[in-house]
Amino acid sequence: MTFLSGGIGGARLAYAFQQWNRRAGLPCAFTAIVNVGDDFTHLGLRVSPDIDSVTYHLADLGDQHRGWGRAGDTDAAIREVQRVLPEAGWFQLGDLDIAHNAMRTHLLTEGLTLSEVTAKLTARYGVDMRVLPSTNDPSPTRVRFSGPNGTSVDRGFQEWWVRDRAEPLPQSFEFPLVASTSPAPGVIEAISGADVVVIAPSNPIVSIEPILAIPGIREAVERVSAPVVGISPIIANKPVRGWADRCLQVEGVDCTASAVAERYGHRNEGGLLDGWLVDEGDVTSSRSFPGRVAASPLRFTRGEEDFQIVDALFELAAKCEMQRSVNSHRSVNSLIPQSERITHSV
Ligand code: GDP
Ligand code: CA
Repeated sequence: MTFLSGGIGGARLAYAFQQWNRRAGLPCAFTAIVNVGDDFTHLGLRVSPDIDSVTYHLADLGDQHRGWGRAGDTDAAIREVQRVLPEAGWFQLGDLDIAHNAMRTHLLTEGLTLSEVTAKLTARYGVDMRVLPSTNDPSPTRVRFSGPNGTSVDRGFQEWWVRDRAEPLPQSFEFPLVASTSPAPGVIEAISGADVVVIAPSNPIVSIEPILAIPGIREAVERVSAPVVGISPIIANKPVRGWADRCLQVEGVDCTASAVAERYGHRNEGGLLDGWLVDEGDVTSSRSFPGRVAASPLRFTRGEEDFQIVDALFELAAKCEMQRSVNSHRSVNSLIPQSERITHSV
């Protein structure tokens, strides 16, 4: 099983998969492919916020309340930056986070790729799930605004998201370097060889689409014979946390579970998804999605609900797989004489 992931929504799903897998007593055969569009260099440190959210959650080190950073972390270093160099103090990094990012920067400086660094650090934290950056090439997300007299200006994603608290509403999001990137080693194989591909309940616009924009990744998801299922990050027309609503607004997408499914698109219509898992309250409004829709409580709690979400997701994937195999028989059937056709009831 392979899933595409951003930060907190993906990290919560990753933790749920890990616990589900451990309860089943199975060796971990799951792969997370994680967005690097938010990565940037700050205070000389190479920061990969989404990879770190996933890693910290899997290692059970994540701060559950804030949704980023390490539980119980202290902030002496960043407070010193804020005192002496306040213009560089806007990006919160706890002391342990700074140590973590210093280790990443050190290993990158030694010549390791981001994939190698991620593999090394996750292993050292005792994480047995495979965590792959979507690419080892720089592919920063930029946020574009209209300026005076028809001009436009752009800003780094973290400056807009963290420093400016997602204000003002931009004109567009851009991935200016993405065309010259390639998927990190193992990414395409992890998608092509998966028995299920999952799109995590992550921000569709600035977490999932920067992954899909890397040449070869969207195509691999489109081509995979396994079912592709997604989990809605939107519950009752609101993001569970963060400003995905603002990102969707920029793209003219309503902040609803069904509009996000439509954005990803149904596989039979040139999109990505066979199935879409929504919160129980969003079932009726999601009926317009032409693929399979299933419902479950969708808020991760690190308790029984997480197992329910994973069970519902795999059940949905199994139904989608059945449907796909029927459809492929149908398409093969259409090539052979009527009398020899295989028939199925679904
Ligand atoms: P970021 O990179 O840290 O912004 O995280 P992601 O892109 O992975 O996820 C952000 C999205 O996660 C938001 O749109 C939230 O609505 C969603 N999210 C966070 N917690 C939950 C949860 O418990 N359940 C669901 N379904 N979505 C969640
Ligand atoms: Ca992120």
